[in-house]
Amino acid sequence: MPTKLRFEKALLVLVALTALAIVGQKWVLQETFVLDPAQGFDHRLYSDVLSGGNTQAEIVSTEGGRYEWRCDLRPQFQYPYCGFEVRLVGSHTQGIDLSNYKRVKIWLDYQGPNNNVRIFLRNFNSLYSIVNDDTTTKYNQIEFPYSQGQDYYEFSFDDFFVANWWAREKNISPQLSHPEFSNVVSFDVQTGSEHLPGEHHFVLRRVELVGQRFDAADWYLAIIIVWAVLILLFLGYRVLELSGEVRERKRRELELIDVNELLDSRSRELEAKAKTDSLTGAFNREGIEAAIKDGLWEWRHSGQPLSIVMMDIDYFKSINDQYGHGVGDNILAGISALVKEHIRSTDLFARWGGEEFVLVCRNTRINYARYIADKLRVLIAEHKFDGGLTVTASFGVSTLSGSQSVEQLFKAADDALYQAKDAGRNCVVTDGSD
Ligand code: GH3
Ligand code: MG
Ligand code: MG
Repeated sequence: MPTKLRFEKALLVLVALTALAIVGQKWVLQETFVLDPAQGFDHRLYSDVLSGGNTQAEIVSTEGGRYEWRCDLRPQFQYPYCGFEVRLVGSHTQGIDLSNYKRVKIWLDYQGPNNNVRIFLRNFNSLYSIVNDDTTTKYNQIEFPYSQGQDYYEFSFDDFFVANWWAREKNISPQLSHPEFSNVVSFDVQTGSEHLPGEHHFVLRRVELVGQRFDAADWYLAIIIVWAVLILLFLGYRVLELSGEVRERKRRELELIDVNELLDSRSRELEAKAKTDSLTGAFNREGIEAAIKDGLWEWRHSGQPLSIVMMDIDYFKSINDQYGHGVGDNILAGISALVKEHIRSTDLFARWGGEEFVLVCRNTRINYARYIADKLRVLIAEHKFDGGLTVTASFGVSTLSGSQSVEQLFKAADDALYQAKDAGRNCVVTDGSD
């Protein structure tokens, strides 16, 4: 699968997961403790008898998924009360940590002379609680007006406060007088603080304590961190991948440059070979073409003189005849090497055919070309070739004039050379001279 498509699929999955994490946040973060009478919690009915009163309390039923009890509040005790306690867990001292809980929902029916009902979440803390003395567990309390026909009541945990009478009675310091839910052992329903005597009838159907495992802000922060880490990982991976690609591309470019250089030098070699005479190493006819063109252009545009020297070896046929073709070849190569060694870098020496050569002298007047030709003539005549052989050569010199063509220039040099032969060879004749 191409990387790009793989990346897009991964992105799609991530976006889907993020959407799920946002939409499903409530279910992920929320935890609920349900107090359902059908599940059979430990429970207990108590009254002001504990405080010296004479209130009568009686459990009517704990069947059918409800706790039902009745109290007949009697005025013997100054503040008559009765309460019903449900233990959240079996232990009296080891409760449930509800510190992160936010809301409480109560399904409760009440009939009686009071307007208010009290609920408590009782917290055990050895700082103020005594084992086996239930009155020492903290009374985190909400007192609310009961209204007939309301299905359920819902409160925030922030609505709880610590019952004054309890803090006073138990001598609790202000530092410990705040609501506390770190070790809740029971949920209580009590008659309201009006303490009105008479018949009070309660039915408790269900209690839900709704908490949050951790903060929604933390949840979103975690999502952002996951994204940031994934983006960083992806960027790191891409940087590595791209630098690998860049390295590979550079390597290929260098390879291509090498190949191009090789091809260039090959083609230069081939081009040079195509313009060079293989026996003598001098240029061939094609090789002098560019020099002639340049010279012609220089003459036409800036009047620089273009001269040529034609050279033909004297009696070469007899050398071949006498010593063999091989020796003749050596002399041709030797003459070429000798001439090339003694001409200017701007002069171009080429084999015109057989034992005939031409020297193209750009920006050179005819007199100087003639001087060069004579110098070469002496050089050749005095040179001892392989086996001590000596040869001479005849020269014809011409220069471009007026609107002369290149053919005419060569023809003039050729004519001059012919004249040199006629004049007895081993000499230089300049075009136009008698
Ligand atoms: P001259 O020019 O002085 O009139 O006499 P020549 O003998 O040089 O005249 P000609 O032009 O008739 O002869 C040229 C000879 O050069 C003929 C041929 O055998 C020889 N020749 C031409 N090309 C080559 C070559 O490549 N190698 C050798 N060894 N000989 C060559
Ligand atoms: Mg010849
Ligand atoms: Mg000749």
